[in-house]
Amino acid sequence: NLKSGIVGLANVGKSTLFQAITKSNLGNPANFPYATIDPEEARVIVPDDRFDWLCEKYNPKSRVPANLTIYDIAGLTRGASTGAGLGNAFLSHIRAVDAIFEVVRCFDDAEIIHVEGDVDPVRDLNIISEELRLKDIEFVEKALEAQKKKTRQGGQSLQMKKWKEEEATMEKVLAWLKDGKDVRKGDWTPKEVEAINPLFLLTAKPVVFLVNLSERDFIRKKNKHLPKIVEWVKEHAEGDPIIPISAAFEHRLANMSEEEAKEECKRVGADSALPKVIVQMRKALHLHSFFTVGPDEVRQWTIRAGTKAPQAAGVIHSDFEKTFIQAIVYNYTTLKELGDESEVRAKGKMMTKGKDYVVEDGDILLIKAGA
Ligand code: GDP
Repeated sequence: NLKSGIVGLANVGKSTLFQAITKSNLGNPANFPYATIDPEEARVIVPDDRFDWLCEKYNPKSRVPANLTIYDIAGLTRGASTGAGLGNAFLSHIRAVDAIFEVVRCFDDAEIIHVEGDVDPVRDLNIISEELRLKDIEFVEKALEAQKKKTRQGGQSLQMKKWKEEEATMEKVLAWLKDGKDVRKGDWTPKEVEAINPLFLLTAKPVVFLVNLSERDFIRKKNKHLPKIVEWVKEHAEGDPIIPISAAFEHRLANMSEEEAKEECKRVGADSALPKVIVQMRKALHLHSFFTVGPDEVRQWTIRAGTKAPQAAGVIHSDFEKTFIQAIVYNYTTLKELGDESEVRAKGKMMTKGKDYVVEDGDILLIKAGA
């Protein structure tokens, strides 16, 4: 189960947002056993129209949506990489997550102290990006030292060749970081990626930027800082998604009943941004969904993009990966278009696929596995 951590300076609205996420209808419907795991960790349902449609169609006894685990990480401070504030403890929490929601404060409120004195999101973005990068530099320098020691002691020639290659990759990554760039923005060969992954670098993790606006700005979709943030992301983290959000608004909605929240959204003319937040994070993590359907259960499963059928089957039951024989496959879009499984079959769109089939997002699978 992949985890996303909420990261940002102190007093930018991280906890407010986290609480809104856990309390919202998205996070914890009364009839569903997903909830807050501990005060800092919550599992939320991934909203998906396809899942809703399939549930409506099959009216199953059991409905199991996909979920995403979100982790509230304590505020970062300038100098964290050298141990300031919660420093290293904080950074080790980031190391443990698979992706980052970076909350940037854009709301003005004289009552809420900004740790850096005033509201300046670009400065904040720079602080965080620098702290994460400095920590990565430290990690890579240590790893490189250990690697060099290993190669000095010598080994078989094949082993030595591999170690030397890894060493070269580390040197390259180090230079890249020192040049002020994030590892996830590099163009690495598959071999390099193999050497980079075990380092669990902070700047290698996917990031979704959450721009925390005042309720007013969120509703009118305008804020003076926004263009500068967009520009900053373009320059330093090209391609990473930016989602405007209002933690205060989300928090208010989360404390209402579903009906009240709907009314309120209509009244102010804005919707909760939380579904988008969850969906974007799934995208950033390159996660795909497949479904299993039937009168007993409709279930949405999570796989990484590029997963083949046996490994997808293994998500359902670990034995299935080894005993996989074949999968009956059709896509959700086909089912929706044709309306019925029998129509899908009649039109020849129900396919039998073997071990090499790469499961596509929205596939509906029926796995056949041996004993
Ligand atoms: P964290 O330190 O990043 O977790 O920040 P918190 O979520 O604890 O928020 C710090 C303070 O800012 C709290 O008093 C919140 O009520 C307030 N706050 C959070 N988001 C907003 C917002 O969008 N607008 C306003 N005016 N206050 C907010």
